Amino acid sequence: MKMLSALLRGITDFSVISRGLYYFTHIPRAFPEFGHRLFSFATKGNKDAVTCDMVNEESFLALSSNLVSLYNLTGSEDLWKELHDASIKEGIYGLGVVLISKKTTCRLCGKQLTAKTSRVVNVMVYHENRGSFMGCRIPKVCSNRSCKLIQHYGYYTIGESKFYDEDWQENDYLLSSGKTAFDIKLLRKFEVEILLGKLSFKEKADIYNEMYGYDALITKAEDDREEDCKKEKGRSVR
Ligand SMILES: [Zn+2]
Repeated sequence: MKMLSALLRGITDFSVISRGLYYFTHIPRAFPEFGHRLFSFATKGNKDAVTCDMVNEESFLALSSNLVSLYNLTGSEDLWKELHDASIKEGIYGLGVVLISKKTTCRLCGKQLTAKTSRVVNVMVYHENRGSFMGCRIPKVCSNRSCKLIQHYGYYTIGESKFYDEDWQENDYLLSSGKTAFDIKLLRKFEVEILLGKLSFKEKADIYNEMYGYDALITKAEDDREEDCKKEKGRSVR
């Protein structure tokens, strides 16, 4: 078999690889003429995408198979669970998601914002597909010492006052409190179902809790870490 490096050298357009890997992870290998179809989809019939003497259907199949095992594209959800569960076991930070603002400069004084990694806080997350899990958030502080602004994910605080970012809806999550985050897609679904289905928010919350349950173990790591998390224990969407 050709070395991977030799196969990669024969590819002049790397979009061929992402298309090939997409096909490889979505279509069962047992499908008729798998290698031929994989190669056609990946190259879109564009002969210039590969130097044909080095990359053919057979070698491209070998390349895709190796890259899939290298990047483990098929098991990303399993990996997510593994990472999350390991972080809960470790008992320090929930790594289901790490929420940090993308903003780089202070809206008040224009100075640089820096991530305050000594102030990581765990948050309970409610998600459309993954149910309840533990994530964490990292605030950013202004490098101007006389400036009181702290930029959080989706909102900022100045002293005791809290303001939502004007673009919070573009985020994947809404931090409704310092310790609770909602998947924005879940909120949109709730909104539509409450409006069209004429359900109360309480009924929707009961449906969610019935579907996903509530894993009290998830909060244990947080309870061990911070005293005031007692409020969160046993709390469901209400
Ligand atoms: Zn500032």
